[in-house]
Amino acid sequence: MKAPTSITIREVSPRDGLQGEPVEIGTEAKIDLINQLADAGLPRINVTSFVSPKAVPRMADAAEVVAGVVRRPGLELDASVPNVRGAERAIAAGIDTVVVFVAASNEGNLRNVGRSTEESMVETSEVIRMVRSAGKKAVGTVALAFGSPYGDEIPPDRVVELAGRFVAAGANGISLGDTTGEANPRAVHELVRRLHTEYPGVELALHLHDTRGLALANVLAGMDAGATHFDGAVGGIGGSPFTKDAGGNLATEDLLYMCASMGVQTGVDLDAVLGTYQFLEKVLGHPLPGKLGQLGRSDPRSQEEPA
Ligand code: ZN
Repeated sequence: MKAPTSITIREVSPRDGLQGEPVEIGTEAKIDLINQLADAGLPRINVTSFVSPKAVPRMADAAEVVAGVVRRPGLELDASVPNVRGAERAIAAGIDTVVVFVAASNEGNLRNVGRSTEESMVETSEVIRMVRSAGKKAVGTVALAFGSPYGDEIPPDRVVELAGRFVAAGANGISLGDTTGEANPRAVHELVRRLHTEYPGVELALHLHDTRGLALANVLAGMDAGATHFDGAVGGIGGSPFTKDAGGNLATEDLLYMCASMGVQTGVDLDAVLGTYQFLEKVLGHPLPGKLGQLGRSDPRSQEEPA
């Protein structure tokens, strides 16, 4: 198989991860988490979302969270926004990259934001144009890109078309979201290859959930097809706004471990991330799904074998 010499990991625990948690950890703990992640070397962090505080009270501290992050060269902070108003707030707060969403499943889009995929595409394209004219980066996410839990078919052509409309609006990057863990390695390989062919030069990222245990297999398929940008969440935390059955994100530390054992560079300190795993487990008050963190150390082979 083909493996890249290095990949870029975007850490989504502060937003995608925490939003599925029953416990609100508070502004200070969110800032602490983000600073730990940056210290560990994670170059891109999905820190919050700029949504209506009435609709999502726990994101009311979005600007405060961004203000608390220690900025450093090379660290890129992104935030998810639903509309132009959110993008304006994100940019005013100092966000580098604005992320918008549509769901490839019309039913999923209706359930998430109460409007059709087409209506969301019109509005998010407007957001992308506004963000680009403000001199910031914009990323368009196609959620439910590999399948829908609502029974509707998601033809790859539809995903390619939606991605193309983000590109036409001026997006710097496209993210394919396997929001509810429907993807399989073959589907990932085919879609990554198609998008690279159709939209060369546009950064393509994979956002994979581990609902059915296929996230790392899907990463390998993506790598083999040329993908070099992957999302992860420490501890594998994070459900989905679409459904309660989403399962967590691909665990960042499990991805790091696989990359280290394959010789794929990430620039991220695995031991530091394992420290953050323990921090998260403590503030959330329950065990986390990530596998490597449960061992509590980065290299089990360096430890004594049990008798
Ligand atoms: Zn997600």
